[in-house]
Amino acid sequence: SVQKKIGIVGSGLIGRAWAMLFAAAGYTVQMYDILESQLVTAQQELDKELHSLEKKGALRGQLKASEQLALIGFTQQLEELVRDAVHIQECVPEQLQLKKSLYSQLDGLLGGDTVVASSTSTFMPSLYSEGLQRRQQFQMLVAHPLNPPYFIPLVEIVPAPWTTAEALERTRLLMLSLGQRPVTLKREIEGFATNRIQYAILNEVWRLVESGILSVADVDRVLSQGLGLRYALLGSLETAHLNAPGGVADYFKRFGAEISAVSATYGPTPDTQAEGAALADIARQCEELVPLEQLDQRRATRDAFLIHLARLKKQF
Ligand code: NAD
Repeated sequence: SVQKKIGIVGSGLIGRAWAMLFAAAGYTVQMYDILESQLVTAQQELDKELHSLEKKGALRGQLKASEQLALIGFTQQLEELVRDAVHIQECVPEQLQLKKSLYSQLDGLLGGDTVVASSTSTFMPSLYSEGLQRRQQFQMLVAHPLNPPYFIPLVEIVPAPWTTAEALERTRLLMLSLGQRPVTLKREIEGFATNRIQYAILNEVWRLVESGILSVADVDRVLSQGLGLRYALLGSLETAHLNAPGGVADYFKRFGAEISAVSATYGPTPDTQAEGAALADIARQCEELVPLEQLDQRRATRDAFLIHLARLKKQF
């Protein structure tokens, strides 16, 4: 059968994750990388990963691992990658200049009906597309996944000011067809939504540790044994909605003044860039909890847990 073709630029961690998501949904995938060695590694890793998921009963989609692998091809020619592709997912390293030069290359190669989506975690789409000659015709946007995308369904879709509504909607439907759960931002904003919320949490966690109120282990427990359990099911507004007899309006009527009073005590944004005593202390405590040589093992535990959690969430 002739399936829609997806092109993936960059065959590292995130490029491979997208390849797996698209192949699971039956799309034909082609991966491009500037390094041949990376493509070879990607092919080996995909083979290993898909067979291991199949053994665990955690493979997505209706196709067998071998059938999914057969859908994934590799090329070192950008021209070949873009030919007949309905969607290009860009997964090159997080360096603005690198992304800029790649997008100007793509600008010269693409017709108007291919959407180019960046996996970027941090760059607003206007940053690397404003200089493009054909930015009005060039259908580009951000489709930001969370790691590991195979088990975390959220995708943030973010437009540049010149992204068309049609490109946004096509990408949203494409993500839904993978079984992902997209949200589309009305306009671009620094940090998108996920990192804005994540950084607000990191800032407050930092303050609580720096001021000696909680240890790293305890502050992380507040999320992993407390708030995080609710948030694995509900967002913070629905949580509030359930937490007052009359729903969310009642919640803010009861607790709004308290929220404002506590919020007024937060103080300035911590300087997390400075390599001062606070960071040294946080690093020491984190490394006591998980020594650096055990990070891979801990990541594997996280992923195994997420497999179970993804199954559990399907029941609700
Ligand atoms: P990575 O370093 O694992 O992979 C990058 C790949 O791009 C490498 O294979 C490299 O050889 C290739 N590459 C470099 N220059 C290239 C070029 N000009 N053309 C084609 N390929 C090129 O990086 P990653 O972790 O997969 O991140 C990729 C993107 O995904 C980044 O924008 C990152 O911000 C975003 N992202 C990463 C995560 C994460 O947790 N790692 C999560 C969400 C989004």
